[in-house]
Amino acid sequence: MMKEKYLGVNVSPLTYEGIISDLRVRLAEGKQSTIIAVNPEKVMSAQRDPEVKELINASTYQIADGVGILLAAKIKGGNIHSRVTGVDMMAKLLQFAESDGHSVYFYGAKEEVVTKAVANIQAKHPNIQVAGHTNGYEKDEKALVSKIHQSGAKILFVALGSPRQELWIRRNLDQLPNVQVFQGVGGSFDVFSGTVKRAPALFRKLGIEWLYRLLASPSRLKRQLNLPKFLFKVLQSR
Ligand code: UDP
Repeated sequence: MMKEKYLGVNVSPLTYEGIISDLRVRLAEGKQSTIIAVNPEKVMSAQRDPEVKELINASTYQIADGVGILLAAKIKGGNIHSRVTGVDMMAKLLQFAESDGHSVYFYGAKEEVVTKAVANIQAKHPNIQVAGHTNGYEKDEKALVSKIHQSGAKILFVALGSPRQELWIRRNLDQLPNVQVFQGVGGSFDVFSGTVKRAPALFRKLGIEWLYRLLASPSRLKRQLNLPKFLFKVLQSR
């Protein structure tokens, strides 16, 4: 699979549908796959920390979550023309899990958040097989990994924030041979539970979801300053 590189970080040019059909093949072949969202904040952290860069580049799919990557693709003449967001990828995987009969495990977020997210998902997908869920503040990692293993889950969503969730996946991938798809989903359980609202459609359409999130929680400013820094570096690297 051809990847594009932005400041040394791989990004997969596949769309949602492209990823699902590729995953179908990999699942049939018994291969494990990992999905990680890439945005300017993560690319900038990869510049500082080679482990983060290695972690991202070693994933099966690096999805272009965020308008920053699209702008970088424009600057560099790349082939990434639409976003593949973590939360929408998760929604597509839930549909896929329901239609193809793959059981799903949810790990992360606060207990009331993950419980509500699972209830909402079950209401929307009545035929989905939920293998289990655990909040993201569980301390006994060994017991948790064994619980997930025994649950028989095929798809695992890990919602601990970055890079904690990616490190968790890398640490435990080999201990979870039955799990074939791992996705690090950040704050997505908060969205599925209804605790956090997504930006209105207009903001999403215009590619200014970041502005909505900034207005909703101004403390994100420091994190969001990564966007101009990232674009500046991409321009410099031309
Ligand atoms: N979280 C968790 N365990 C922790 C720290 C965080 O489960 O030890 C959860 C937190 O409750 C939230 C998610 O991880 O649901 C982090 O969301 P955030 O929006 O910060 O992630 P991002 O998408 O920005 O990486």
